Amino acid sequence: MRYESTRGQAGNRSFSDVLLDGMASDGGLYVPVELPLLSEATLRGFADKPFVEVATGVMWPFVAPEFEPDEFAELVAHSYEGFDHPDVAPLRVLDPGRGEWLLELFWGPTLAFKDVALQLLGNLFERELVKRSRAVTIIGATSGDTGSAAIEAVRGREGIQLFMLHPRGRVSEIQRLQMTTADDSNIHNVAIEGTFDDCQDLVKAMFADNGFRERHALSAVNSINWARVMAQTVYYVTAAVRLGGGSSQVAFSVPTGNFGNIYAGHVAREMGVPISQLILATNVNDILSRAFDTGSLQIEAVTHSTSPAMDIQVSSNFERLLFELYGRDGTMLAALMDRFRLLGHVELTEPVLEAFQELFDADSLDDDGTRRVIRSVYEQSGIVVDPHTAVGLGVGRSLRADPDVPLVMLACAHPAKFPETVEAALGERPIEPTRISALAGLPERFETLPNDLEAVKAFIHERAASSEL
Ligand SMILES: *Cc1c(COP(=O)(O)O)cnc(C)c1O
Repeated sequence: MRYESTRGQAGNRSFSDVLLDGMASDGGLYVPVELPLLSEATLRGFADKPFVEVATGVMWPFVAPEFEPDEFAELVAHSYEGFDHPDVAPLRVLDPGRGEWLLELFWGPTLAFKDVALQLLGNLFERELVKRSRAVTIIGATSGDTGSAAIEAVRGREGIQLFMLHPRGRVSEIQRLQMTTADDSNIHNVAIEGTFDDCQDLVKAMFADNGFRERHALSAVNSINWARVMAQTVYYVTAAVRLGGGSSQVAFSVPTGNFGNIYAGHVAREMGVPISQLILATNVNDILSRAFDTGSLQIEAVTHSTSPAMDIQVSSNFERLLFELYGRDGTMLAALMDRFRLLGHVELTEPVLEAFQELFDADSLDDDGTRRVIRSVYEQSGIVVDPHTAVGLGVGRSLRADPDVPLVMLACAHPAKFPETVEAALGERPIEPTRISALAGLPERFETLPNDLEAVKAFIHERAASSEL
C-alpha cells in the first residue's frame, strides 16, 4: 500500500512513513492511493470471528508489506488485551422493538473511543522505532480525551518522549487526573496558562519550525494520523457483520468533532461494508451540519458545551473527504484549504455539496436536547449514556431513514467521565468504574507554563536532553 498527501506535494509514502510523520510535509493529510476491497464472502466470514481476528484482516492491506503477517497479528492482539470487555467493542441492545443498538467503544484504559486506535498506535510506533533504531518526541494538545489516551498508549515505551499540552484549569478533574497521575519518566504534562486553541497553536508553531522539528524528531498522534482512521474502520466492520451478516444494510449515527470517527465509517463503506446511512451529529459547534445544509464551510467562535470533545470548528479530517469529492486534485485542494484558513470560510461547489449530501445525513443538538436524551434513554431502557453519545442518539433517531435497517449509535465515552452533565440530567451521578476511583489521591505531575512558544520549546529541549542521558 502506498500513500499520498491531500495537497499533492508529498506522494508515494509507505505505511510506516505515514505512521511516524503524522502529517505530510506539504501541510496535507495522508490517504491511501487506493482502498482495499472487502468481498461479500470475506465479510460473511468475519461474522462469527473475534474482534482481534477481524481487525487483523481489515487492517492488513493497509500495512503490508511493512510487517510480517504473524508479527502484525501479534501486535493487534496485544493492543486489545488491556480492554475490560472480551468483545473489545461490544454491541448492546438499546431498543429491541426499534432495532436500535449501542456500539460501546469505551472499554479501553481511559474509557473513551480514542483508546481503540491509540492502543494500537503505541505498539506500532514502538515496533517501528526499534526497527529503525530511532527515537521520537511526540507533542500534542488536548481538551481532555486525546491526552489521556495518548499517555496510556505510550507510557514507559522505549524511544518515545511524550509532551502533552492542556489548558490549565479547563479540563475536567477526571480528565486531568487521568493524565497527570502517569508517573513514567517519558510522560511530560504541561498545563498552559491559556485556552485549548492556544495549546493547539503552540503545537502547530513547533511543527512549523523545521529546525526544532528535525532536532527533536517531532511526531503526532492526534486524529490527523492515518493509522488512527485505519484502526477505527474495524468496529464499523464488526458491528455491520454482527447485525447484517455482511450482506444486509446497517445504519450508523456518529457524534462528530474532528470528523475522524465518521470518516472511518465512510472508509469502511467504500471498502464494501453495507452501510445504508452515516448520520453526522454535532453539538452547537455545528460547522459541519451548517456546511451540509448550505454548502458554506464557515468558522465561528468555539462555544463551550456539555460534549467538550466535539467543541471544535476546524474539523481536520474533513479535508480527506474533500480531497475525494474534488476528484483527488491535490493542487486544487491546497488552494481551497489556504483560502479557508485565510478567509475563515469557503463555498463548496454544487457537485461537491450534492456528493456530501448523498453520502451523509447531518444535524446538530444543543445542551438542553442532550440532557433530554440522557433522561429519556434512562427512562426507556435504564441505560446511562454520556453526553457525546446522547448527541449522536438524538440526531440519529430524528434522521433515521428506514425503520427496518438496524441503527447503531456509537457510544464514544463512559458516562462516568462526565458526571456533572449526567447528574444534571438524571439527578444522580453515574457509578464510577475502578479505573476512575483508583485515581483519587494519587500524586500528580505536571509543569505549568505561560502561553509562550519560547518557554515551551525551552522546556521540551531541556527535558528531552536530560532523558537522553
Ligand atoms: C474525540 C471524541 C469525539 C469526536 O470524535 P471525532 O473523531 O473528533 O469526530 C466524540 N466523542 C468523544 C467522547 C470523543 O472523545
